[in-house]
Amino acid sequence: MNCQLCQKESDAYHSGNLSEGLRMQVEMHLEHCRDCSESFQLWAIADVVMEAEKAVKSNPFLVTRIMAGIEEMEHEGATRLRIPAYQKVLKPILISASLAAAIFIGVFVGSTYLPTGTVQRIPVELSYMNDAALESVDLYSQL
Ligand SMILES: [Zn+2]
Repeated sequence: MNCQLCQKESDAYHSGNLSEGLRMQVEMHLEHCRDCSESFQLWAIADVVMEAEKAVKSNPFLVTRIMAGIEEMEHEGATRLRIPAYQKVLKPILISASLAAAIFIGVFVGSTYLPTGTVQRIPVELSYMNDAALESVDLYSQL
């Protein structure tokens, strides 16, 4: 038996559907061929894993409990998001009133703090001064 035939018969060998003569030939080949024996060992490990997976029982009520939880969360979210009618009216009124008050206070404070008649004009000489020459960056780098 060669490797190709052995691999071809591996499925039937593992499921036990191989004739006695063919099974003996496969086993004889496995004793001599390392590649095929490793492949068959992987098959055996995969079988063990699949059997263990089949043994795990799922909870039949899991889906029902999850769906009930989702519905409960949706119901809570719907009641929480409902805004009372007085808030729909009161909120824009309060925002408008506070905005108007802020504008009024700003204009009032600005007009009383510095009346326009007392503001001194900037001397013309100051506009000709070179600020960059007065505050050199080198002065700060020496610190
Ligand atoms: Zn082989």
